[in-house]
Amino acid sequence: MEEKLTGLVLSKTDYGENDRIVKIFTLEKGTLSASLKGVKKSGAKLKFASEPFCFAEFMFSERAGKRTVIGANLNDSFYPVREDIIKFFAAGAMLEFINKFAKEEMTSPSLFFAAIEGLKQIAYGGVPPRYALCAFLLNALKISGYALNTGGCFLCGKAINERVFFDTFSGGFLCGNCFNGEGREINNATYAALKKIENGEETTEEENLFALRLLDFYIKNKAEEKLNSMQELLKM
Ligand SMILES: [Zn+2]
Repeated sequence: MEEKLTGLVLSKTDYGENDRIVKIFTLEKGTLSASLKGVKKSGAKLKFASEPFCFAEFMFSERAGKRTVIGANLNDSFYPVREDIIKFFAAGAMLEFINKFAKEEMTSPSLFFAAIEGLKQIAYGGVPPRYALCAFLLNALKISGYALNTGGCFLCGKAINERVFFDTFSGGFLCGNCFNGEGREINNATYAALKKIENGEETTEEENLFALRLLDFYIKNKAEEKLNSMQELLKM
C-alpha cells in the first residue's frame, strides 16, 4: 500500500550499514516512524528526507505495518537553522517538544502549523530565536492541555501589578492577596515578559531568557519532561 503524507522530520536513528529510521510528525496522522533504505550512501537521492527539520510531502509504502519512505518532495529544510547555534537549539527544542508531547498517531493540525510557523520564524528571522521558541511553547503547551494562564490572577482575575506567584499545578499566576502557600514567588519581570510574548509585543533578550526559564521550569515540573536543547539555550 502506498500513502502520501505531509510531514516534518523530528529525529533520525542510523541502523545497519546505510539505513535510517526517522520519526516524522505528519499533518494527517500525527507522529510515525519510517525507514529509509540506503540513505547514508553518498549521492543517495532521499538523504535530505532523513534529516531533522525536513518539511516535505512524503510518499510511504507500507508492508506488515512497517512504513518505508520511497519518495519525498521538499517544501522547506529550514536551512539557516544549521548556520547559527542559537537558531539551531531554539529550533531543536521545538522538535523535542513535539517528539515528547505529540503522542504516536495523534493528529494535531494546530500543533503542526505552529511548528512550521515557528521554524520559519527562526530560520528566516523577523523575531529573535528565543522569542520564537517562547511563543511556540506558549501556544504548543495550550494545544497539549498545559496552558499557562497569563491573563491575570488565576483566582480573583485582577491584573497582577506587584508580587507574582506561580502555581505549577494549575499553570496559573496569583496576586499577593490570593497566594495561599501553593506555588512560589517569581520575578515580576518574568511574568511581564511572558505576557508580552503572549500578546506578540517586542521584548529584550533578557526578557526572553526570563520567559524561557519559567517555561523550562514548568515543562519539567508540570509535564515532567526535559528539553535538552532548551538547557543549552539557557546556558548561552
Ligand atoms: Zn488574586
